[in-house]
Amino acid sequence: MTPSVTSATNGPHPLPTEAASDLHARLTFDLDVDLCVVGAGLAGLSVALEAAQLGLSVAVLEARRVGWAASSATLGSVLPGYGVPIGELIERVGVGHASDLWALSREGMDIVRARATEEAMPGIALSSGALEVSNVDLGDRLVERLQTLGVDFGSEVEGWQIDRVREVLRTQRYFHAIHFPGAFQLDGRRYIRGLEAMARRAGVRIFEDTPVLGIDSSGIRKRIVTPHARMRASDIVLAGNVHLGAASPRLTRTLLPMWRMAALTAPLGERLAEAIAFTGSIADTDGVDHYRIVGGDRLLWTGPETTFDIAPRRLEGLIRRRIAALYPQLGAVAIERSWSAPIGQTVHGMPQIGELRRGLWVASGFGRHGLSTTAIAGRLIAQGIVHGDQRWRLFDPFELVWAGGKIGRVVGQGVAIAERRTAIASGLLARYRERAAERSRQREERREAANRSVRRVLPEQTPASPTKSDRPVEQRTEAGSPSA
Ligand SMILES: Cc1cc2nc3c(=O)[nH]c(=O)nc-3n(C[C@H](O)[C@H](O)[C@H](O)COP(=O)(O)OP(=O)(O)OC[C@H]3O[C@@H](n4cnc5c(N)ncnc54)[C@H](O)[C@@H]3O)c2cc1C
Repeated sequence: MTPSVTSATNGPHPLPTEAASDLHARLTFDLDVDLCVVGAGLAGLSVALEAAQLGLSVAVLEARRVGWAASSATLGSVLPGYGVPIGELIERVGVGHASDLWALSREGMDIVRARATEEAMPGIALSSGALEVSNVDLGDRLVERLQTLGVDFGSEVEGWQIDRVREVLRTQRYFHAIHFPGAFQLDGRRYIRGLEAMARRAGVRIFEDTPVLGIDSSGIRKRIVTPHARMRASDIVLAGNVHLGAASPRLTRTLLPMWRMAALTAPLGERLAEAIAFTGSIADTDGVDHYRIVGGDRLLWTGPETTFDIAPRRLEGLIRRRIAALYPQLGAVAIERSWSAPIGQTVHGMPQIGELRRGLWVASGFGRHGLSTTAIAGRLIAQGIVHGDQRWRLFDPFELVWAGGKIGRVVGQGVAIAERRTAIASGLLARYRERAAERSRQREERREAANRSVRRVLPEQTPASPTKSDRPVEQRTEAGSPSA
């Protein structure tokens, strides 16, 4: 499940396959450690760093290169929450539990923010704020969501009315928005490199080109098999996402691989600032588009998802069409590079975090929200191993559920297409309603103006009660009026 890349020029957002690390050591000798982490993506490195900081001896085994998969492909948006809409989360576990989970995701954001400083990760290019925009007129539902997020969950949020949204995003396609002032963005590629460097400094040993082929987790000391050597560890963390394969076929079967695509446009000049006057990330509530400005005048855009690996170039047209639909004033937009990588989607939409059996841990299924959630997963698991902290149990309700194998992928693709179409259709309907309401308002104004001029021409009269013969005519006229 290789991440796919379309072109290979250097630029502000380097490509997932460009390997920055020059420490590609393989595991060629037997080794004993406290903790073995399988996978060197955001999840694996986060656990490894936290565990090493708590004093464990840690080795990470990576089948290819550090961060070669989804972890280097991100848009760099660090947001609170998970892949599940808040209403659904509350329905499943109740307000109190959902609020605790939400607080964990915010703690994850804090962890990333503390790590991603300009001093620790030069060029990390932080920007702040995120807008969750609605494709439909939310009306009272906006107030309800603000109440849940701001009051029940204690999040820093602002509700933006339509005028304010359209002041900064010059498109008629969006209605209300929720602004998360505490959300932020970073250069995702630099972040994973910085995380790797921090882990190494904390004493983590990272072995690349070292796929884990099998695990025997039955004893106190667990055995890990790799092509050239064996390892023994008291604890193992499975952080291989959809790539895990033979290391744990059961776990692999619980994840639906979804290739998420991203594209970077060529420089768009001043016209971009005229269309988009917001420097944070913008995502719609239906999950159709997610984008932000990078490098001053380029758009970094993610959106299309497929359950099969399709060359990103073939999907570039989709992104170009979405940009043209939202911001026609930008004119023709050239895409300079595009890439895709599989995210691991669980059936319930929540990440898999916790202890599967004594000493065997899992950190995977982070879907589209991997930055903050992998950070908190790392902390919870490390504290669980070292201090017996049980906070990871908040994820207990989200068990390992079979994702349906090949049939699941076909169904998943159908659902993804249907959801995208429904979201786009709802947007069309909402804009039609908005235009109809505007036409109706204008008609009312014209009628009111006509009535005023009639009143000015006719002398003031006390209206006589209508005769029996008048009444039906008047009623018919009203009922047949276009604005009724
Ligand atoms: C285009 C795109 C944009 C995104 N944008 C954002 C964003 O803006 N914000 C956000 O929060 N999230 C975003 N995400 C999601 C985020 O990238 C993922 O949730 C996150 O990277 C998952 O990290 P991971 O470590 O679980 O998995 P991966 O990155 O897939 O890493 C798993 C690693 O484990 C290794 N591995 C697997 N099996 C074995 C084995 N048997 N032996 C040894 N090694 C093994 C693999 O080689 C791989 O390196 C985006 C994803 C994509 C694709």
